[in-house]
This record gives sequence, C-alpha cells and structure tokens, in this order.
Amino acid sequence: MSYLTKNYNRKNISFKYGKGSFLYSTDGKKYLDFVQGIAVNSLGHTHPKLVKAVRTQSKKLWHVSNAFKIPEGEKLAKKLVKKTFADYVMFQNSGAEATEAAIKVARRYFYSIGEPNKNRILCIKNSFHGRTIAAIHASGSKKMTEGFGPKAGGFDHFEFGNHQSLKKKIKKNTAAIMIETIMGEGGIKVIPNWCLKELRKICNKKRILLILDEVQCGIGRSGDFFAFEESKVKPDIVPIAKGIGGGFPIGAVLMNKKVAKGMTVGTHGSTFGGNPLAMAVGNSVMDIISNKKFLHQVKSVSRYFILNLNKIKNDYPKIIKEIRGKGLLIGVKLNTNQTKFIKKLMDNNLLTIRAAENVVRILPPLNVKRNEIDQALRIIKKVCSEIK
Ligand SMILES: *Cc1c(COP(=O)(O)O)cnc(C)c1O
Repeated sequence: MSYLTKNYNRKNISFKYGKGSFLYSTDGKKYLDFVQGIAVNSLGHTHPKLVKAVRTQSKKLWHVSNAFKIPEGEKLAKKLVKKTFADYVMFQNSGAEATEAAIKVARRYFYSIGEPNKNRILCIKNSFHGRTIAAIHASGSKKMTEGFGPKAGGFDHFEFGNHQSLKKKIKKNTAAIMIETIMGEGGIKVIPNWCLKELRKICNKKRILLILDEVQCGIGRSGDFFAFEESKVKPDIVPIAKGIGGGFPIGAVLMNKKVAKGMTVGTHGSTFGGNPLAMAVGNSVMDIISNKKFLHQVKSVSRYFILNLNKIKNDYPKIIKEIRGKGLLIGVKLNTNQTKFIKKLMDNNLLTIRAAENVVRILPPLNVKRNEIDQALRIIKKVCSEIK
C-alpha cells in the first residue's frame, strides 16, 4: 500500500544510491542512468564537488530570509550575468515557478511603462512550461488543463512551425512570446536558428518581449551554455531550473536591465528561493559547467553519440524514424511502440524516458564518459535487433 497520490505512473523500481552515470537499485542491479532526473543531475549522481559544497555549507548556514543579503546568491547571480545576456537574476526553486515569474516580469514591465493592457503571452500550442495554473494554460494543452477550473486568462497559442499562425496571433496587446528553445516534453524539437532570429525581429518590430524557456535545454545541455547562443539572438527573459542545481531544487529568471526595472520592491518574492544551501550547490555546478573546455567536451561527446545513433537508425529504419536534438538532449523518434522500447532498454539496464511524438528521450549527465556512451549504443542496438 502506497500513501502517495496516484498522479505518477511509477515504474516498480527504486534506487539505493547513485554515482556518476550509474544508479544502483534496491534489488541489486546496476543501471546506466540516461534520464538523470530529467536533465536535472547535469553532473551525474553525487559528484564529489557538489557533495563537498553541500557538506561545507550545511555546517555553516542553510536558510535565511530574502529580507537579508545572501552572499552565496550574489555570487551565483554575478556568474550567471558574466556568462550570459542577462543583467539581473531572480532566484526561485523550480521550473514552473521560474516560467511563471518570467510571465510576471514581462507583464510588470509593460505595466511599469504605462501600458498595463499589453499583457498577453503568446506560446506554442502543446508546449511545456510546468504544472502551476498559469504554466498549464501557457502550454495550451487540453490534457494538462482539463478539470482545473477557470482558464487562466492572457494566453494565446500558435502552431509549432506555422509562421502564418504565429503572425496572425500577434495582437497589439501581446506583451511577450514565450517558447522553449528546444521543446523537451514535446518531443525534442529544436527551434532552428533562423526561426529564433526571425522571432527576435518580429518582437523588436512589434515591441514584444522574447522569453526563451531554457529550463530543460539550458545550462550546458545543448552543448552551449544556452541553446539560443548559436543563433546570436538575445532574449529579454530566460527562466532556468533543472540543470543549474545539479539535483538540488533551484530555479531562476534571468533578464536584461530594461525589463528588470519593473521588478521594484515587493513585486515578487520566494521564501526559499536563493537560500544559502541551494546557492552553494548552484555555484559549484556553475563553476564546472560554464568552463569552455567542459562545454567543448559536451559537444564532442554529443557529435559522437548522435553520429552513432544515426548509424543504428540506418541499420534499423523500421524501428527508428529519426534522431533529434542537440548536445546531450537527444530524442530517438520510433516507428515502433515507445513504451515497449523503453521497457526493453530498462531490462538491459539502460534508463531513458518518454517524450511526446513517440520519442525516447536520452539525457546522459553532461560529464558522461565515452565508454558509457558506447555501452548505451550497444544496448540500443541490441534492443533494435530483438524487436520485430
Ligand atoms: C521541466 C520544465 C518546466 C517545469 O519545471 P518544474 O521544475 O517541473 O516545475 C518548465 N519548462 C520546461 C521547458 C521544462 O522542461
């Protein structure tokens, strides 16, 4: 008997401990973990530097209110600003909180310049921005919003890839366009660089803010620190979460100074957001991932992985339809049953997770080793050969 609510379809497996790319189950099996808490454990399980950060900070100070200065948070904010487009950072605890706060920042900006009616947020239909009331309505997904009462107002939606639909949905009162730079839950769909550039142009022309949700694809996951960097586009607001905590719950909103002006005293707050313990971990993650050499290595491993996945695809075209993604945010779109495929990978000690459009999501830690990639490739190939 479990006293937990039934809102998850949990697999009948639990783990005793984890180390790097591996998880060790309570029934004595060793798994290659290419889920990593859904792109959360960016440095694998129990990374020694993160263990040390928690240990050291936990003996000094865990939590103080944001009514006081928190030097660890000042430090992490400075690192994020030095590394990115951003001028200011606002810490939260999760992805949904970060996307909601991003919406608040956008609306508050137009309010602060005397245009309170310019407050609508335009998003991609069936995208994913989290599970709070506002975030589910931002996603525009029937499945996620059904049964949760009155619709949160102020959201419009356009179809992925349909630029006519995008242009038609832009109104005078559109405050921001919010999209995931790479759609994670939606099936690892990469927004091409030319699209991002075009979006920026449209936003500039119509005085609309550009919010790029990098909760899943950010913090090195794409091979760049942010997935939009290659396009040279500068967004106005970027919510982050998952990868920045390396397993510790951290969220944040990064923004430029123009929009930050609206966030005056009392406009937003979070009891836990940016507490010393979380920030100590975040600083350690940031020090490792923001290193150029580290990101270079992510790209190189990614090229190797994707090249070899494509080879398997070419050998088994009836099973694999397409390899998608960027960096170590990889999707294997199947022609065959997704649930069965994931189960078979798990039976062979490789953990992966589903995404929409019959895609198997593969999310190794960013410091994954070449021989661990080889191990995964062998298992994927074996499963392909066993499925008829
Ligand atoms: C996971 C995710 C969220 C929500 O994050 P939570 O921490 O689960 O609230 C928001 N946006 C994107 C793109 C995500 O992948």
